[in-house]
Amino acid sequence: MATAVLHYSAAAQTDRGCKRSSNEDAFGYSVEDGIFLVCDGMGGAAAGEVASSIAIDAVLEHMAERSANPTTALCDAAEESIQRANQAVYTRSQRNQRFAGMGTTLVALAVEENRAWVMNVGDSRCYRLRGGKIEQLTLDHSLVEEQVRLGRMTEVEALRSPYRNVITRALGTQSTVTPDIFELEAVAGDLFLLCSDGLTRELSDSTIEALLSVERALEETCAELVRAAKKAGGHDNITCILARAEAA
Ligand code: CA
Repeated sequence: MATAVLHYSAAAQTDRGCKRSSNEDAFGYSVEDGIFLVCDGMGGAAAGEVASSIAIDAVLEHMAERSANPTTALCDAAEESIQRANQAVYTRSQRNQRFAGMGTTLVALAVEENRAWVMNVGDSRCYRLRGGKIEQLTLDHSLVEEQVRLGRMTEVEALRSPYRNVITRALGTQSTVTPDIFELEAVAGDLFLLCSDGLTRELSDSTIEALLSVERALEETCAELVRAAKKAGGHDNITCILARAEAA
């Protein structure tokens, strides 16, 4: 099969949800630089918001620099951008008592022609819809999901656990971070979803799959995902980015 050159179109939406007074999620993307990312910040006062926005800015800035002067492979640049983001959040938290201990999740998709890399820290996720089926591409760094993977807890128990908010890896809480990195080949028609747990806690995989499968503008699909998560309770901030690979 001949591989077509791909280009991407994207849309995103973030929403405070129905219960929280602020929005600690953040997103950013650049189709030009081949980078899409969602962060879900945590920390007291306004620290979560600060952490997620610092991380987004650091990654976007690094990837824009790389585009202007592409001496490193995209995958390496993306990984480096995550280290930069970690350093930026960590340094800020060390300098200001108000931000002590702040951190953020991060899920990123980096794309170049037919190659794609998904990187994550924490429990924000990436899914891919292909042939009408969704597949979760990331593994949550969360206490309960790790117990599920070890067969020590069921998915239902995980959802109800008092420890369901505990993540085992975060960006910005230590001087270095190790993201998981998944390399894949993209094909025309692939639809990638990056999202915070405010979406995935409210909607089952089958609901997400059904919403992604409807043919419509990406902006409308984002709005439908957010609307459905709010209708299901909207207990947390909700953020999603959709990126679709299309034949150029
Ligand atoms: Ca969240």
